[in-house]
Amino acid sequence: MIHRRPNGPLFSIYRKPTNKDDFIHYFSAHSKRTKEGVVIGFFLRALRVCSPEFLEEEMQHVCNTFKHLHYHRSKLTHVQRKAEKIMSRPRGEDTHKTQRIMISHSKLTEHLEALVGLTLKIATSSGKKIGDIIREKSSNHNKPLSQVYSIPCGGCDKVYIGETAQGLHKQRIGQHRSALQRHDTRSTFIVHVDSDGHLLKWSQASIIKQGLAPRQRKIGRSGIHSYN
Ligand SMILES: [Zn+2]
Repeated sequence: MIHRRPNGPLFSIYRKPTNKDDFIHYFSAHSKRTKEGVVIGFFLRALRVCSPEFLEEEMQHVCNTFKHLHYHRSKLTHVQRKAEKIMSRPRGEDTHKTQRIMISHSKLTEHLEALVGLTLKIATSSGKKIGDIIREKSSNHNKPLSQVYSIPCGGCDKVYIGETAQGLHKQRIGQHRSALQRHDTRSTFIVHVDSDGHLLKWSQASIIKQGLAPRQRKIGRSGIHSYN
């Protein structure tokens, strides 16, 4: 018995009435490390929380739960021993002796761990998660100065469509005006000035859409477009 809690109140694991003990199934696509990590977490919780009177029952409950999820009995026993070993060693022992490195998880991780296992512990990160991608997108939506805009031509029915990350009225119009002063022919509206003699109607510049991710903003081609 590993438990070292002094005599006092009794502790066991509380489960809500709605609890279904539904965790990662053995046949799920998660890595072996992740699955073992989940199981060992339950054993460790039992060892840390339960009073001796309840420990045996709780350990059995964890075993049964994961047996239902198709984990092998021998594997569960192995993980349980591992948890007991962790609880029995003096605190901080592991961190003094073992170095850790952090790498992204891949199929090679387990082979690598087998190679360096005794001297080096490998911790893995799971890489990009769906949540990260969604958060990234929403943060881009919060950039009001990321805009697509239009400026009509003063001499014909064409329109200049542009995009900017710095805001149309805050920066972009000023940049266009200075391009005009410099006669910078990399701007298509300057080419239009040269070929047709038309100037853009700056006063009618308007934002078509704002708060766009750079990828969305650059979907169209900036330049002089005709109305169809
Ligand atoms: Zn024109």
